[in-house]
Amino acid sequence: MSQKVRVRFAPSPTGPLHIGGVRTALYNYLFARQHGGEMILRIEDTDSQRFVPGAEQYINESLAWLGIKIDEGVSEGGAYGPYKQSERRDIYREHVKMLLDNDKAYIAFDTPEELDAKRQEVANFQYDASTRLSMRNSLSLSKEEVDQLIANGEKYVVRFKIEPGRDVVVNDLIRGKVTINSSVLDDKVLYKSADDLPTYHLANIVDDHLMLVSHVIRGEEWLPSAPLHVLLYEAFGWADTMPAFVHLPLLLKPDGKGKLSKRDGDRLGFPVFPLEWHDPKSGEISSGYRESGYLPEAVVNFLALLGWNPGDDTEIMSMDDLIAKFSLDHCSKSGAKFDFEKGKWFNHKYIQEVDNALLAEMFKPILVEKGVAVENYSDEYIIRAVSMVKDRVNFVRDLWDVTSFLFVAPVEYDEKSVKKRWKEDTPALMTELVEVLRGLEDFSCAAAEPAVLGWITEKGYHMGNVMNAFRLTVVGECKGPHMFDITELLGKEETVKRVLAGVENIKKD
Ligand code: GLU
Repeated sequence: MSQKVRVRFAPSPTGPLHIGGVRTALYNYLFARQHGGEMILRIEDTDSQRFVPGAEQYINESLAWLGIKIDEGVSEGGAYGPYKQSERRDIYREHVKMLLDNDKAYIAFDTPEELDAKRQEVANFQYDASTRLSMRNSLSLSKEEVDQLIANGEKYVVRFKIEPGRDVVVNDLIRGKVTINSSVLDDKVLYKSADDLPTYHLANIVDDHLMLVSHVIRGEEWLPSAPLHVLLYEAFGWADTMPAFVHLPLLLKPDGKGKLSKRDGDRLGFPVFPLEWHDPKSGEISSGYRESGYLPEAVVNFLALLGWNPGDDTEIMSMDDLIAKFSLDHCSKSGAKFDFEKGKWFNHKYIQEVDNALLAEMFKPILVEKGVAVENYSDEYIIRAVSMVKDRVNFVRDLWDVTSFLFVAPVEYDEKSVKKRWKEDTPALMTELVEVLRGLEDFSCAAAEPAVLGWITEKGYHMGNVMNAFRLTVVGECKGPHMFDITELLGKEETVKRVLAGVENIKKD
């Protein structure tokens, strides 16, 4: 690649960033890093009607959480700013003038009512070469009339003057050549005098050009705009430096039928946003991956594989692995099914990888939420608790279900286990066990296990009966990690207390 790779992620702050947008940002990032290029974050806020407060901050926080680092942007600065479109009005005005001066665009005064009337009158009306002369614009009116209308303060838009009958070719690095005839395109509005702002199309092209963007990597939903963008590049005389286009496949519903939507997430119980989102207008809260207990590395890995594969069956890949392996050649054209069960699987895998001390830190707020006085436990205790059971969970939150007995002694005992394991002679056996436990100098797993098992064997007791009853008193059910790892962590005093409490409280009716 001769040209320096410069990509941009260009979200509009119209709400929370959807998980599909996050994937777009990720692919841009992987591509930029792999080529030693730069990644720009441009805020496309030209649609003042759809602006949502907090959305920009949400975008920044999401990217930071996922480890997608921006080289140039509103917070980072850079040589090609401002990076927020609402701060680039002068630049757009100047470029609108360039198009008008070169007869590539024209001024149109048609009011929304006039346009509606026209649509009523003419079936499938399109504002284009075949109709523009019948409308109120600088092509049908004299220069004096146009100047007068502007002087009178009449609102106008600037429309792109599209030449009909031309095959427009979009070279897409995933899809190959996509050709469409310019006659099907309408004379798109590029600028509105009412708010002195350009529309998405103009601002997007001008900025990509001025910011020296080499590759436009974005969602498939923007493919229909691409021919217009190609024509705009030509109209400005920038065809030689036009960026390469890359339109990523859609994210589909889990069953593959249609585009993934927020409703699918609500319906099937998985987040479609990276972070929890509090809608400032409706107050509605939408769940996020972060708050649902996903690790950012797991989300990155999961998203990377929605529409791309490394060419073999490797699944677990760190950000660095992904940067090394990513390639547009292995991006698919067809939509990617959003398999959220796979997302859980990735999280499970990453929980196994995470340092136990870090996992313990993540678990602490949940312990607090459950009413555990965490200050009474050493870090070592919590670390050992999570390390004992993490292979059983998909989420940090799930750690509570499998470790709660290490923080709260059982007050109830699993009924089925009691029925099966608590025999007539069990209380006596447990009382005897307490004596054995009390007599142990060393309560570590390594010392306690052979001692207790030796006692059972020596006495000729039934191994299963004794051990299951023992577990029932300590854990409250006949499940859990290795028994002597548990007792080592709880310590002698607590273990003995629990066995005695079991003898006292477990009653078989
Ligand atoms: N502002 C557009 C969006 O919200 C950007 C599309 C593009 O990347 O060109 O996705």
